[in-house]
Amino acid sequence: MENTAVGIEPFDASANPADTDDRFVDDDPADLDPATSPPDADGPPADTGNGLAAMPGPTPQLRVARAPLAVVAESATARGWGPGWPHPQTDRIVVAVCGHNNLRLPVRREIAPLVQRLVADLEQQHGPFHDGWCWGFANRAIRGSSTPSNHSWGLAVDLDAPLNPMTSDPRASHTIGSYASGVAARYGFRWGGDYRGRKDFMHFEFLGTPQSAAGLAGSAGGTGGTGTGGTGRPGSPMPYPGRTLQRGSPSGPAVWAVQEALARAGVGYTAGRGPFGPRTDAAVRAFQAASRLVVDGVVGPRTWTALHPAVPAP
Ligand SMILES: [Zn+2]
Repeated sequence: MENTAVGIEPFDASANPADTDDRFVDDDPADLDPATSPPDADGPPADTGNGLAAMPGPTPQLRVARAPLAVVAESATARGWGPGWPHPQTDRIVVAVCGHNNLRLPVRREIAPLVQRLVADLEQQHGPFHDGWCWGFANRAIRGSSTPSNHSWGLAVDLDAPLNPMTSDPRASHTIGSYASGVAARYGFRWGGDYRGRKDFMHFEFLGTPQSAAGLAGSAGGTGGTGTGGTGRPGSPMPYPGRTLQRGSPSGPAVWAVQEALARAGVGYTAGRGPFGPRTDAAVRAFQAASRLVVDGVVGPRTWTALHPAVPAP
């Protein structure tokens, strides 16, 4: 496929630096060990992206969570991205040229425009990321395991790794701040700083499917678009609005999009348009249970991505 977008270039797997520098190798949350990574005292927060229940099933890469820690429920393969480590599809990797310093991040072609917007939006608050301290694709397993890293699909990037460690030290310094949660969710990513237990402040991973990547890329506008949600033509995928929706959320396009998606999801909900009330809450919980998400009635990035809400008609 031609790469016609600005700042997206072919990838040369033989010249990928990410494989060679393991000083700052990070991991994915599936590597969290409950024995050494104490969970938050108050349990999972309101679906900020790390409260996903484990999904039983045949996926061989899956490491089943031991409660109360949750791990990635579905491997990228189960989400339609094909094989990762040890036999990744390097022909589907491109180089996304990102940010103020023209960072060259190898990622899956489908998410390249999203990575560019993610970096651009993060830099508005963080300032420029450093060339040479950021990377994407790496053909490796999660450290100490045989579970493929999201990096091996080109679905994760690390930004300013030396300053944003993977650590379980709650006092560890990091330059990427909590704004990263909402920015990441805007484009279908999860920030490693939101992991429970051990944090991975450098790490951003795409949680969606190839289809949702295309939808997010299409609905968020051109390169540098704000992607704040609520824009786009009716019926097109609606980006996550950057804040959770739950019982009490006022009537508006994002809530309507959730309600319409619930009606399509076949959980016994009849679409209406109104505030996020008890009926919507019950339907969200039914959907979360059916989708093996944490059942809390809160529509965060995970539930939003699973629902695939579309921009409602005016
Ligand atoms: Zn990473």
